[in-house]
Amino acid sequence: MKKHVDCPFCNPDYVLVEAEYSRIIVNLKPGQFGHILAVPKRHVSRVSELTMEEWLDLAMVEKHAADILEIHCSQQLNLLLNQGPDAGQTLEHLHKNLIPRHEGDNFVNMQRVLKDRSRISEDDIARLRLIF
Ligand SMILES: [Zn+2]
Repeated sequence: MKKHVDCPFCNPDYVLVEAEYSRIIVNLKPGQFGHILAVPKRHVSRVSELTMEEWLDLAMVEKHAADILEIHCSQQLNLLLNQGPDAGQTLEHLHKNLIPRHEGDNFVNMQRVLKDRSRISEDDIARLRLIF
């Protein structure tokens, strides 16, 4: 499998769910608690580069993670895929953001909020590992 040495999604620090072609990983700079990522294992930058099997596998782990977030974080979620820089893709490796939302969370301007993120705490990583 093609891996990019410097890619954080090819070499994730914390894996929450592992499937055949994809995984759920800890987002090291979450917008808020529970903001995690669904990534294909293969380094691709566009949906069209995925096989149908990889796409369905990604959808499967995404649903699994969304179900868990709904129970443990919030019934309100954003599930986002940004393809291309003009669409907000900031890292080459294709990924889907799963973001629990809360009333009044002030997450309106997503791009601004995501730019100012700080690194996830060890406590939050431990909390995520508990619920997954
Ligand atoms: Zn990668």
